[in-house]
Parts: sequence; C-alpha cells; structure tokens
Amino acid sequence: MRIPLRQMIDLGRYMRRQKRLGEKYYPLVLMLEPLHACNLACVGCGRIVEYKDTIRDQMPLEEALAAATECGAPIVSICGGEPLMYKHIAPLTQGLIEQQRHTMICTNAILLERFVKQVAPSPYLSFNIHIDGMRETHDRVVDRDGIFDKCVAMIRMLKDKGYRVQTNSTVFKETSAEEIEELVRFLGGLGVDGMLLTPGYHYQVLTNDDIYLKSEEMPYKFHKVRKLAEDYKIINTPIYLDYLVGERDLLCSPWTTVTRNPRGWKGPCYLITNGHYQSFKELHGATDWEFYRTKQDIRCRNCKLHSGFEGTVALEFGQSLRDSWRMVRHYLS
Ligand code: SF4
Repeated sequence: MRIPLRQMIDLGRYMRRQKRLGEKYYPLVLMLEPLHACNLACVGCGRIVEYKDTIRDQMPLEEALAAATECGAPIVSICGGEPLMYKHIAPLTQGLIEQQRHTMICTNAILLERFVKQVAPSPYLSFNIHIDGMRETHDRVVDRDGIFDKCVAMIRMLKDKGYRVQTNSTVFKETSAEEIEELVRFLGGLGVDGMLLTPGYHYQVLTNDDIYLKSEEMPYKFHKVRKLAEDYKIINTPIYLDYLVGERDLLCSPWTTVTRNPRGWKGPCYLITNGHYQSFKELHGATDWEFYRTKQDIRCRNCKLHSGFEGTVALEFGQSLRDSWRMVRHYLS
C-alpha cells in the first residue's frame, strides 16, 4: 500500500466528522516549521531566503505542540529548515505521536543517526527524505558532495530498523525524463514505501525562476511519472498526475494544508505569503479562501503545488465513481 491503512482510515473518519459538523474549510495536513535554519543551502529553497531575518528563531516546544491541537489536522508534516536541527525534535515527535497524529519528518537525512536513537518506530511516524535526482544531480542541487550517498545510507538504515520511509523529489527544468526513471527504479530497489515527485515551486521571493519547469515542459516529464506509477510506489494521486500532464484542471484548496512557523500561521498558502497570523482562527478570518480556490491571484498562475491540489483531490473523493475507483486502486496497489 502506498499510504498506511491506518492513516487512510483516520483521514476518512476525520473528513466525515468535519462534513457532519458542516465545516467547509478544514485542514488535512499541518506543515509545521519549528525553525527555518538548515545545514544545507539548496538551489530553489525559498524558506532560507524568505526567513533570513528570523533564521535563528525556534518555536518553543509547547507552541509547536499547541499548533497541532489548535488546527486539529490528522497529519503533521514537520519541515523547515531542517527539522532535525530543532532542539526539541524528539519530544515534539513523541508528543505528536501521543496525540495520534500521523507525523512525517521531512529531512535531508544528515542528522538521522542521532534522531533514531531517541525515537522508536511507530505506526504514526514516517520519514520523507529529500532526494532530487541521482548522485550528480542531487549533490549539485544541495550544493554539497556526498549528500546523495548519505541519503541512500540513511534510507537503508531506516528500513533496517523498521521505520516507514518516503522520498520527496522535485523535478526541475534540467531533470530529464530518463533520470526520473532511473531515480524511481533506484528508490524502488531500496524498498522505499512511497515516492512523491513534484514540479519545482516558483517561490515568490526567488528570482532565479529559470530552474523551474515551464507549463509546456511539464506534460512530457509527468507522463513518464504517470507511467512509472503503474509499477512503482509513486504516491502522487492519479488525479493530480492528470493535472500535471495537462489532461484536466483542478481548483486549489490551500486551507487543506496550513503552515505554522516561528512567526505565526502563514497565509494564504505554503507557497505565497500575505502575512503571518497569531492564531489559526485569525488566518481563516483574514483569508478569502474562495479567491485562492479559484486561483485568481496572479501568483497562482504557474502553481502546481501538490499541497494545494492533492487537497482538492481528497475533498472531491466520492464525487466521481471513475475517479474514486482509480484512487482506491492506486492506494491499494
Ligand atoms: S494555486 Fe498555488 S499559489 Fe495559489 S493558493 Fe493554491 S497553492 Fe497557493
């Protein structure tokens, strides 16, 4: 299975409860960024540019745990920055597991050996390892030799110890379809539990946008991903892949994936920033969700961000028999 069964059941139960309560704009995933500092400086990372003035800030542990209860999302993705540099990462992870939230740590893998001595495997815990290509490409993207080999060693170690491991790969303009295939086959051989492949984000704070796929370049590369998804554990949903290859349009659901960082609740979405709000309620009060749902902001023009569009896929589950059947087959395979 590409997604743990328990996570799917919990997510379905949570969504049914929100519907019964008459909620329309509710979160599925909390992107929890307890810090923005990182031990790498990757090409295309908007966070270290946007938050350079607060790069040393770290959220107090109580605040990070309270963010999860405040929004109530059943899935928490701890990201950053490099979350394993957060001084409270072990108690934060334990606390989220105790809250029975499906917790994913998005990491560059450098500090994993230290972390696994502190937190045991759990059905609520998984790792999401950043790996943007084969050795030469990945080490170039992260601007440091040896990181690809480190990721591979850490994936092996995590699998040996019984942790659930996913990978997250950004497809850039320079990533060839052949390299995508090589990477997917290689990661499949390592036994990873899931692979997410997404187009690079045009962060509003970055000016070097020649590294990103243009809309017209996207279909060819994601056709390849869709084909590979028939044989490998690619977790992009088939509906989102249809969107990436240009066969259908999707509206955005930015409220399904909300971001909390040391400055507050970032809105309107993971990618673009109008402001940081001191409470989750304030974020909702300040954001015209329908405006962003219909992608009217000029900054939405080139966006194919999975956090906006996979949320839409989840919310629309059940509306079309054909799509629902494709989704069920995808998750069970
Ligand atoms: S389309 Fe992209 S930039 Fe616009 S609200 Fe959705 S996720 Fe944000």
